[in-house]
Parts: sequence; structure tokens; C-alpha cells
Amino acid sequence: MTERASDLEGRLREVQEEIAQAAARAGRSGDVRLVAVTKTFPADVVRAAYEAGQRLFGENRVQEAVAKAPLLAELEGIEWHLIGHLQTNKARQAAELFDMIESVDSVRLATALDERAGRRGIVLPMLLEVNVAREEAKSGFDPDTLLQAVGELAQLSHLQLRGLMTVAPLAADPEDVRPVFRRLRELRDTLREQRSLDGFDELSMGMSGDYRVAIEEGSTLVRIGRALFGERSR
Ligand SMILES: *Cc1c(COP(=O)(O)O)cnc(C)c1O
Repeated sequence: MTERASDLEGRLREVQEEIAQAAARAGRSGDVRLVAVTKTFPADVVRAAYEAGQRLFGENRVQEAVAKAPLLAELEGIEWHLIGHLQTNKARQAAELFDMIESVDSVRLATALDERAGRRGIVLPMLLEVNVAREEAKSGFDPDTLLQAVGELAQLSHLQLRGLMTVAPLAADPEDVRPVFRRLRELRDTLREQRSLDGFDELSMGMSGDYRVAIEEGSTLVRIGRALFGERSR
């Protein structure tokens, strides 16, 4: 094994251990999944992580994933989540490639994905991205519009609403964004109850800088790049 590969294996193990500890602090059992975010890294890096046992990967741009995933098609059980903003005109490619779209941020996009999934004869799992802190530069539903959006999306038969996702504001101290994570959990619980949604359980929240706090607040999917693969050059 190359030195680089064994480094990666060590970091994966470390992050998994941190995830388990954060879950234990919150009195939770093993229901947190690690999404290894491989954006900007080549297919070789994905393969090394796969060989170290990782199966679930996140990419934020369709074009990049379209180039990378076919090089890894022989890796059995590999799963891809889209975690970045998706333009409606890329809905077809996204519905063909990804196992889950975590970043659905409009009813219009969801409708386009539903149509594409329907043509493929599949049901596509998705999360609704929420701009919890209402930051100008960020995509995602305004928390106040979620209830109505979920009502409209429940009609779409080729999409499966699995939960919510958020990207917390940058913070020097992750404790500062704890309320954002808590709010996302409350939103999920409220929607699940008010709309009687079955299987609306996922909370994708937490990145390299803040995933421990996110897990303490109920995260089921942590999206981690830098802590596994190092700093990105872009
Ligand atoms: C890049 C990215 C991540 C991972 O961020 P790190 O700080 O590298 O862990 C998580 N979520 C989204 C939406 C991203 O674009």
C-alpha cells in the first residue's frame, strides 16, 4: 500500500471514530452515515477511499461527477449523492447518475427531476435544501416556504422525499451554528408530523468543521471533504 493510501485509511478511521463518539454523546446508535466529499479530487482518490471501505460519496457539480463516476463503474455498491446546486437543464444527467439528490432547492427543479426519474422508471430519493440562516448567497428553501413546498412535492410519484439538508454558515466556533442544526431537526419533525410523511427521516448536516455538533443535534448524513482528503486547491 502506498503511504498516501494508508494516510487516507487512517483519516477515514479517525473520522468514523469521531462520528461514533459524537453519536454516543447524544445517546444515539449507529444511524449516522459518512458522505465522503470528493469534489476537485480525481477518480484515483475515490478508488483509494473505496478500497479503505468507504462506499458513499458526494459531489457538488454534475459535470464533474459525469466525468468521474464512469471511471469507477466497476466498484460494486458505490453510491453517489449530489450535494451542490443543480440547474434544471442538468436534471436528466443528475437523475441518471446520482442515488440521491440532497440539494433540491425549488419546486421547479423537483418537478424536472420527477419527470426524468419517471422516464427511467425509477423512484429517486431526495432531500430538500433549507437556507436555515437565510443567507443571501446561499440556495435552499426559506424555512417559511417549506410546508407548502412539501405539499406540492408530495404529488410527485417518482421522487421520494427523505428529509432535509443544510449548509451552515461559516463559523470559527462550531458551537455558534448549533442553533442552525437544531432548527433543521425541528423543521423535519414538524413537517413529518404535519404532512404525515413516512420515511422523512434524513438530516444531512455537518461538514469537516462542524460535524460533531451536527451529529449531537441529530444529523444522519455528514458530508466531509477536507478532514478526509486534505485542503482543496480550488
Ligand atoms: C464541499 C462541501 C462539503 C464538504 O466540505 P468540507 O469542509 O471539505 O468538509 C459539504 N457540503 C457541501 C454542500 C459542499 O459543497
